[in-house]
Amino acid sequence: MDKERKLIIAGNWKMNKTVAEAIDLVTGLKRDLVAVKEVDIVVCPPFTALSEVSKVVLDSNIRLGAQNMSEHQSGAFTGEIGAGMLKEFSVRYVILGHSERRQFNGETDAMVAAKAIAALAASLKPIICVGELLAEREAGRTEAVVGTQLEGSLKGLTKSQLEESIIAYEPVWAIGTGKVATPQQAQEVHAFIRNRLVAMYDEGTARRVRIQYGGSVKASNARELMSQADVDGALVGGASLEVRGFSDIVKNSI
Ligand code: PEP
Repeated sequence: MDKERKLIIAGNWKMNKTVAEAIDLVTGLKRDLVAVKEVDIVVCPPFTALSEVSKVVLDSNIRLGAQNMSEHQSGAFTGEIGAGMLKEFSVRYVILGHSERRQFNGETDAMVAAKAIAALAASLKPIICVGELLAEREAGRTEAVVGTQLEGSLKGLTKSQLEESIIAYEPVWAIGTGKVATPQQAQEVHAFIRNRLVAMYDEGTARRVRIQYGGSVKASNARELMSQADVDGALVGGASLEVRGFSDIVKNSI
């Protein structure tokens, strides 16, 4: 598939996989995806599996991501993990502001922006998630909601920092529900996001930023979604938990 930007497909394993299971999964992915050069491939295991998974992906085309991090470097923040700790395991990416963290952990746009700035300062690439609820879409508020999240979550990021970042558009109604956005619905919001980035930054910067779609992506719908002009990859939850499910998404997107 000929794309303006290199596709980036990331698996968000959420709170799944023991260390042994994580090793099995990533070993299978490494075998299945060894020949893939056209797509940036990222796996985001739980913190507890980062150490062992990092050993398996060493010298492979699979990069490591985390699912969250603290905006602080170190200190009295019980239960938190800082960027420096992630870097010990060669983590390159970090998912920030996932809707589950916004919903269950009270993360705000300002918190996401602070974490993004801390991640970038440590040379980690943030995957910054935005997306509307079903009620917001039905009320015709998708662009207002996503626009506000973008402005707030990117506050303080410079042009070059934005270019190091990835935006993930994840309509909340499509996450883990099996209800995927149609390719046209995804493209519409992705184009809106890129236009908003033009307004916030400039045309060249906005054209270089990769925007992933997330929400019930699977092997059977990946190709059509990825073929949309402004869809530059996927953030995959459920289907990333099995070797075949994730590797077929990557292969079908090429
Ligand atoms: C996600 O949680 O980021 C996600 C997109 O999940 P799923 O693919 O299961 O909808």
